[in-house]
Amino acid sequence: MTEQKQRAKWNYEEFDEVLDEIKDEGYDKVGLQGPDGIKEELLEYASKLKEHDIEPVMIGASTFGACGIADEKAERMGADALIHVGHTRFLHPEKADMDDINVYYLPYREDRDLMGVLKEHYDEIGEDETLGLVGVTQYMDRAEEAREFLEEKGYEVVDGKTGLRTTEEGQVLGCDAGAAHNISHKVDAFVFLGSGHFHPSQVSEAGKKVYVVDPYQEHIWVEPANSLDDETRAEHARVIKHKDKKKWGIVTSSKKGQNYMMAVQIAKEKLEKHGKDVYIFVEDRIFESDYKGYGIDVYVNCACPRMTKDWQDLAFVSTQALDVLDEVEINHN
Ligand code: SF4
Repeated sequence: MTEQKQRAKWNYEEFDEVLDEIKDEGYDKVGLQGPDGIKEELLEYASKLKEHDIEPVMIGASTFGACGIADEKAERMGADALIHVGHTRFLHPEKADMDDINVYYLPYREDRDLMGVLKEHYDEIGEDETLGLVGVTQYMDRAEEAREFLEEKGYEVVDGKTGLRTTEEGQVLGCDAGAAHNISHKVDAFVFLGSGHFHPSQVSEAGKKVYVVDPYQEHIWVEPANSLDDETRAEHARVIKHKDKKKWGIVTSSKKGQNYMMAVQIAKEKLEKHGKDVYIFVEDRIFESDYKGYGIDVYVNCACPRMTKDWQDLAFVSTQALDVLDEVEINHN
């Protein structure tokens, strides 16, 4: 394991800034990768590269996060660098080297009227509260404006820090609400810039309610504190249901930011301590269907932590949930 490498700048606001850097480096072939929803923009970026005599290599699969940078695929096609569109740089939680010195991150900023929603509905937020300000990267370019507005209205605002995996202050990922946890002792509640329950539920685990400034719903709604507790209880129940199974699988991903070898080792030791036969699996994208047919009913997730609740027929549990095995009687007969 080595330290993650440093570069003066990793995250860029404008494609032209990235283009200038790529031209300065003299790269003549560059990979382009991005998530669903902005594929037409990716082709526009490809056209711009061509205008500057730089050959683009398109990465076909959609990306769900900068945990899955496809720089190695681009290199295999002869590219000198990769432009990862959609997300900010991701730091490996086990401090493994992401080896991304030639990756340029261009986070996607969602063009929705977030500030309009905050200005119209801020009175949904309780009075005299000290607020922690966090959100998803699509809206964090407006965090400063949101903070100034809330302070004008009399709130005390504490800016979120970076988390274990994130490189933008206040930014939350589905797998990392460290930005909120790091300041939760200083605040009464969080203001979250973004939409959906996926990220706010993660923030709520910091033990405070979350006011979600939602530009899709066009209002502010509340995610209660610790809203993931039911999910954790369900996961423990799955482990207990399979406690007597002899064969267990451990699944990690070959994606750089989802390859958690320390977690694999911890899970393996926890299971072997209880006499289990353990099999370790690796694949780029993890689909339940690939794990049917091995005669293993229960798998431990050592890849993207937010996949745990997704499986239907087979049980899929986190490493942490294995701790309940210490509290039950196990019978392999
Ligand atoms: S939640 Fe999963 S997909 Fe998203 S950044 Fe984290 S590891 Fe990657």
